[in-house]
Amino acid sequence: MTAITTVGFDADDTLWHNESFYRLTQARFADLLADHAATEDLEARLLAAERRNLGRYGYGIKGFMLSMIETAVEVTEGRVPGTTIGEIIAAGQEMLSHPIELLPHARESVAALAESHHLILITKGDLLDQERKLAQSGLGDLFDGVEIVSEKTPEVYDRIFAAHGAGPGAAAMAGNSMRSDVLPAIAAGAHGIHVPHDLEWEIERAEAPDGHARFHRIADLGALPDLVRRIG
Ligand SMILES: [Mg+2]
Repeated sequence: MTAITTVGFDADDTLWHNESFYRLTQARFADLLADHAATEDLEARLLAAERRNLGRYGYGIKGFMLSMIETAVEVTEGRVPGTTIGEIIAAGQEMLSHPIELLPHARESVAALAESHHLILITKGDLLDQERKLAQSGLGDLFDGVEIVSEKTPEVYDRIFAAHGAGPGAAAMAGNSMRSDVLPAIAAGAHGIHVPHDLEWEIERAEAPDGHARFHRIADLGALPDLVRRIG
């Protein structure tokens, strides 16, 4: 077994809260358009727009705002008032300035592993927003590298773990998304550590690779340092 020398951390909903802000904005969006669509229908249309637009806008709040506007135009058949568009933009801009709330054990876990391992933050999303959140989190100095990527594929993990360490065979990736953090890291040859968050974005869902030798699951980040020492 190769020693683990590098640990990758996902950011949103792994180190700090994120999806909860999307849910709050979505509830506000549903209120704004309550006269035109039932909440469930509106949410389904918004999710379809987000899926459709991922390849154009990438991940993050700006793309989410544009998908809300597109959905508003759609459900009102082009008659959405400018004031409603203004409210949607204001809701998105509020998301872009929400305060960072670290998840339980995030700081102590990152600090403990920083003493013994190379730590890389690997996240998708809007560049400026992710940089802002990392700066506000106070965790920035504990990471040896930060990678803000457009998609988390096995090739991306391979490149990052080769650039920042001894390759994926000597790396572990911890995150809340089975689809983006765990499965592609394992496919690249790294360990994939699932740290579930109770709110999960539909698009990030995937089956767990139960039984895979490099798949691990922990309840929260408090268990991460011990797990990394045990597997590597
Ligand atoms: Mg995440």
